[in-house]
Amino acid sequence: MSLKKWQKIYVNRSLNMGSIKSIGFDMDHTLAPYNHINFEALAFEKTLDKFIAAGYPKELGKLQFDPNSVIRGLLVDHEKGNLLKVDAHKYVKKAFHGKRPLDKDERHKLYNSESFKAENLKSVDTFFSLSEVQLFVEIVDFMDRHPGRIEKSYAEIYHDLRRYIDLSHADGSIKTKVMATPSHYIKKDKHLCSALIRLLSGGKSLFLLTNSDWEYTNAVMTYLLGDTLPDDYKSWQDFFDLVIVTGQKPKFFTSKNDFEEIDPQTNKGTLHKGTLEKGRVYAKGNAAKLQEATGVIGDEILYVGDHIYGDIISSKGLVNWRTMLIVEELEYELLKLEDTQDELEKIQESLREREVLDEELQKLRSLRRSLDFQLKKTTELEDKKKSSHLIRELEKLDDKVSDKEGVLKAFNKTIKNIIENREKKIHPVWGELMKVNLEKSRFAQQVETYACIYSGSVTNLRFYSPFKQFVSFHDTLPHDIE
Ligand SMILES: [Mg+2]
Repeated sequence: MSLKKWQKIYVNRSLNMGSIKSIGFDMDHTLAPYNHINFEALAFEKTLDKFIAAGYPKELGKLQFDPNSVIRGLLVDHEKGNLLKVDAHKYVKKAFHGKRPLDKDERHKLYNSESFKAENLKSVDTFFSLSEVQLFVEIVDFMDRHPGRIEKSYAEIYHDLRRYIDLSHADGSIKTKVMATPSHYIKKDKHLCSALIRLLSGGKSLFLLTNSDWEYTNAVMTYLLGDTLPDDYKSWQDFFDLVIVTGQKPKFFTSKNDFEEIDPQTNKGTLHKGTLEKGRVYAKGNAAKLQEATGVIGDEILYVGDHIYGDIISSKGLVNWRTMLIVEELEYELLKLEDTQDELEKIQESLREREVLDEELQKLRSLRRSLDFQLKKTTELEDKKKSSHLIRELEKLDDKVSDKEGVLKAFNKTIKNIIENREKKIHPVWGELMKVNLEKSRFAQQVETYACIYSGSVTNLRFYSPFKQFVSFHDTLPHDIE
């Protein structure tokens, strides 16, 4: 069976699944894909309520959630109120102040004229950040349209935003709604059960490690797996040797926190020392204790998550776990990329043509420089006849240079338009997640560096043997290809 592109698992670093003994899963956006628009609209609305309750202008209540305003992989400059898309070399290729695009000169002045520290900016790593950052964009735009209505800096607004969104998650405003109608917020993948069973049948032990609390985790996992359980399974917990909730990732990978055992009825935790048992629920804890309790360590563990920092960079960098990143956007984007394949070929062909035009122009310019040099000499030698001949030649050459410059300028504009139109077909504001214009985005670079393998969905694991040798053909350098 040949797989569709969006069903495949892609390899950055070779990974022999035969050597993997234990596979850990994050829950939100990994085992549980969300209906983004419904969920983000809810988070947007609940957080906005808190802004107004805290005394911000009531007109903010009119702000609308716009699912196209923010994508993952962007950087937020919360001091300046800007949103940036950066390439793999930290060059800011696209930027908005609120909803106003920043032109090339502004981007250059603010960011590209010197090397800026991406670490000082907030990275939009998770889907849960999208609504938060979108609300920031809306409020910055509101402040620009109504100067003086909110007398706070952008950074102070962002600080409040962080507090209110955390509060919306902590006080249950969001959670209660999702638990009441999970089908509105969470997408059920009917293949999840078979994907997990395939791994179990290959002798892997599975564990769940999520930052969500027990009550929410149980509700979501029951929704995902409750009605597809094999006959001999009593609950979704039977799939997992260990269930760890409120995991506090990325701290989980470095802390010395003890585990707590959760009473599933009351959601209350009590300090737990000693072994970790299947069928029980644990909270907090840390990676070292998890490894000690299971006897499986470092690169024998594959961790599957969607958060490039909290799940992937941390688990790989701090405890040497192998990593699989779920990039939900891939399914949609790979289809769009197929649809825009003709445009991409046209762009590549145009770029080759432009290189030829550019070389012709450089030849004319260098001929011009050489004639100019000769003219200086003949003028010094007062060779009037030769000088006037050279002047005529130079005039002809100037016309040719200017014609060629005109052609090249028009050609560049055409290419820019084709690139922009293609990007808009993929995403109306930000283009492709993994690229910015035609170059790798910062997000793509992080995926490449930290995710051993990546795929659009966790259930794509069902297409592969639990002993599959994932081989990377990735280590090519420009001189290998030319
Ligand atoms: Mg997650």
